[in-house]
Amino acid sequence: MESQQPTPEPLPWRGACRCQQLQMRLVSAPVLSAICHCRGCQRMSSSAFALTLTFASHGLEITRGDPVPGGMRSDDLQHNFCDACKSWAFTRVPQFGLVNVRATLLDDARWFVPYLETYRSTKLPWVEAPAKESYAEFPDPNDFPAVLERYTDWARRRDWPT
Ligand SMILES: [Zn+2]
Ligand SMILES: [Zn+2]
Repeated sequence: MESQQPTPEPLPWRGACRCQQLQMRLVSAPVLSAICHCRGCQRMSSSAFALTLTFASHGLEITRGDPVPGGMRSDDLQHNFCDACKSWAFTRVPQFGLVNVRATLLDDARWFVPYLETYRSTKLPWVEAPAKESYAEFPDPNDFPAVLERYTDWARRRDWPT
């Protein structure tokens, strides 16, 4: 069944905002794929949930445009947007050296599947995600390294870069 899924092109991957004035390139393998139903993601995406590919900070390169801060404008979660069309593009999490890229901004996102589901407690009742690990809110931070390890095993079996 998993072999019927589309598989990603080799890295680097390219992505862009709605208006294409902000363009990016992903040069390292993601460390996690996720779906989040938290109220913050629902509001900021103006949709039911947010889809995320997480990379080490250096994995994201901006190739066109200048992202601007938006969202919560906090130091811990740095939400970045296209200045022209205001698309939410990515979120830097500096204390972990990670960046969460909005998965559907990739030029080809057909292969994307969330491994981790967070904030199931506030999901819209009809949403059924195929995630392998699901949490009412967020996994315990102490468990996070183990979650990333299990993601890596799962991604390797799907022929995703790891
Ligand atoms: Zn734009
Ligand atoms: Zn969220």
